[in-house]
Amino acid sequence: MPLGTKGNMSYPFPRLQNDGIFQLVNAPEFKGKINPEIISSMKKLRQVCAGAKLDDELFLMLCRPETREQLRAAVINHYFAEEIRASVLECGNVNIKAYEYSQKLLKINEKANPYESDTLNNKVRDQGFRKAIVALYDHRCAMCGIRMLTPEGHTVVEAAHVKTWSESHDDSPTNGMSLCRLCHWSFDEGLMSVSKNYEVMVSKRVSIEKNFPGHVLTLSDRGIFKPEDKAFWPGQGNLEWHRSKKFL
Ligand SMILES: [Zn+2]
Repeated sequence: MPLGTKGNMSYPFPRLQNDGIFQLVNAPEFKGKINPEIISSMKKLRQVCAGAKLDDELFLMLCRPETREQLRAAVINHYFAEEIRASVLECGNVNIKAYEYSQKLLKINEKANPYESDTLNNKVRDQGFRKAIVALYDHRCAMCGIRMLTPEGHTVVEAAHVKTWSESHDDSPTNGMSLCRLCHWSFDEGLMSVSKNYEVMVSKRVSIEKNFPGHVLTLSDRGIFKPEDKAFWPGQGNLEWHRSKKFL
């Protein structure tokens, strides 16, 4: 993409058809040929396109780890300038490892700390923790309940550690909550916390100085939004730590 432009997969996706990578499959209600020129957003792409069909031979290559690696190298060497090939490859590796880490976090329910998290690259750990937590809360902020997603999949929420990572080195889901940017900041600053009964606590400090905390005040004593499976709810020990060490 040219500098200063934000890309999304709606640009390359229809164009890969012309490169013989796959065949586009029309959305049920769309008739006619899909013209890549008219697809400028994910919304538009979804309207006309149900997906893509890989050719059988290519599909088999993707199923085997060795040929998949060869294919990855061939695509990167063909489509990317030499000076950025290494970072594209690294980006892909981080994505794969982060996904694997998130799956591991979601499998182990109890607080267990042999997650090898200390040996992982920070990018892998951050992304993996984020993927797991955001999925558990279905993109919803645990404290204010807001859920906003763009068609490109950008989400308003982030994954927050209840007991800070520097103190706990613990990425268990029971040490995480999905929070929107405002709630995340307020939680980390100690302006908000969560009670024993999983209710939002708002510090009196939000109203000092010339603050206008607005809707934050209305969240006080409201139940937080929790994952469906109780095993993933924020752990009482971690919440207790936040109330006693961070909450103002
Ligand atoms: Zn929020």
